Amino acid sequence: MIRSITQKKPETEIERLLKGLNRIFIIGCGTCVTLTRTGGDPEVRAMKKELSTKGKMVTGQTVVPVACDNLTREFLSDFGEQINQADALLIMTCAFGVQSIARQLNKMVIPALDTLFIGKESAVGLFDEICTQCGTCIIGETGGICPVTNCHKGLVNGPCGGTNHGKCEIDVNKDCVWTLIYNRLKELDRIDSMRKYQKPRNHLGEPKPGKFKLPTT
Ligand code: SF4
Ligand code: SF4
Repeated sequence: MIRSITQKKPETEIERLLKGLNRIFIIGCGTCVTLTRTGGDPEVRAMKKELSTKGKMVTGQTVVPVACDNLTREFLSDFGEQINQADALLIMTCAFGVQSIARQLNKMVIPALDTLFIGKESAVGLFDEICTQCGTCIIGETGGICPVTNCHKGLVNGPCGGTNHGKCEIDVNKDCVWTLIYNRLKELDRIDSMRKYQKPRNHLGEPKPGKFKLPTT
């Protein structure tokens, strides 16, 4: 399953963001951050304890089922009074969750986590980034393996000169993705794909913020 991968912000940053805000309502999420143990029930409880020892008053806390869902407002309406009493919401979800809640509630929001990437659990407790959503997907020519995300240099025409016995020169513990691509294409008898020159990525292709509209039928 695809997940938003997050990590807790440094304590000093959270302290700085909460400066002058004394009454706090804490929100976690029951999906990605529960799995990564950054914003599930135990982490929300630990945060409550942490804030209390720092002299903050926690007016309440909850773990919403899916923070980035539009139904979050409805779920949070059960906590109306505790949220009203709070100076701010400390949100232990990915940035999608924080933004969804910010749009749904007229309240100051403080993120407690940094959102690192969209990833997939490749082994128990290990999450790998699989796609940076670059907008010009080339994996049809690289055997379904993404070099944009997995090559340390993001090379779309690889390998670089540093690949060594199948390992990456930047991180010797990591397989060189272009070696993996080579092996895969060879196995599929499609090695010619690798000889095709990929044009440099067009960073102007999609102006920010990205938008997608379904075509009208
Ligand atoms: S090339 Fe890689 S980063 Fe770009 S869209 Fe395809 S899988 Fe995602
Ligand atoms: S060794 Fe391979 S993965 Fe590492 S930077 Fe060079 S091409 Fe990319």
